Amino acid sequence: MEPLNLATLPKYLSDEGAAWELLERLRWPEGQVVCPHCGVIDPAHYFIAARSGERKTRTGQTTYRRLWRCRHCRKQFSVLVGTIFESSKIPVSKWLLAMWLFNAGKNGVSALELQRHLGVSYQTAWFLGHRLREAVTREPLSSLLSGTVVADETWVGGEPKNRHANKRVGSKQGLTDKTPVVALVHKESGEVRTRVVANVNGENLRQVLTSHVDPATTHLHTDSAQVYMPLGKKFASHGTVNHSIGEYVRDGVSTNEAESFFAQFKRSLDGTHHNVSKDHLHRYATEFEFRWNTRKMTDAERVQKIIGASVGKRLTYRPLTDRS
Ligand SMILES: [Zn+2]
Repeated sequence: MEPLNLATLPKYLSDEGAAWELLERLRWPEGQVVCPHCGVIDPAHYFIAARSGERKTRTGQTTYRRLWRCRHCRKQFSVLVGTIFESSKIPVSKWLLAMWLFNAGKNGVSALELQRHLGVSYQTAWFLGHRLREAVTREPLSSLLSGTVVADETWVGGEPKNRHANKRVGSKQGLTDKTPVVALVHKESGEVRTRVVANVNGENLRQVLTSHVDPATTHLHTDSAQVYMPLGKKFASHGTVNHSIGEYVRDGVSTNEAESFFAQFKRSLDGTHHNVSKDHLHRYATEFEFRWNTRKMTDAERVQKIIGASVGKRLTYRPLTDRS
């Protein structure tokens, strides 16, 4: 079977059967089909069920599916079981295109673009985008960072009509409808972890730091904002740069890595997604975290990573739209 790349992509997009086989190969590398019911991994235990292939629905539409049967428990399953794709009515070839668009380019893909490229409703496209964001969510992360970690925050979003007011109060907290996002950057690996917070105060920053960083073995780099001073005392060391006097690097201390991440994130929010509500901002932050952390991979490798990460994740429409 041909590997997934820009040259072979059209073939998979135009052949639903090939798209299913590709998804299987990416989810179960080396032909290691795994029954989700009993977990047997011996390939001899499986065969393609007779009910696979093209079929007509009651409404006259043609759908395709590939079902496996397990000799051990006699149950049927498909590659979609237990993933974000499960119970989706969207053809696998369209999921594949969506994942490709999600990964190609630095800025991601808007719901409107997905709607146009996939030929689905806006609502379907919007939900699909969020299911991909759910797939790349890594929380809860159990590994604590150590070494050198930059902590920084920025304010994003807000109504365009309030932009002028935002400017007046500055980028720091004040009369703003923007939402703060905290980023931690591990200097040695370049890994970014983000967290949307209600506001930037000592308690919120302490929570973000303690759930991601081992203070005893970490050198913390921040700007000279007062809020970081008591927190910094818990770390192996705490270096600061004073942005208010135009200082960006001092004695090897800088927060440049976080600034680069935020610049890209804001460009993408402004250029691609436009109005992102506070309720969903953490999902977009997660998406850009994923793209940043996989920036050395090829597009195809990122698609494979999403498929691998989609196992064990579910996102239903209702909690996504409930705002209570
Ligand atoms: Zn089984």
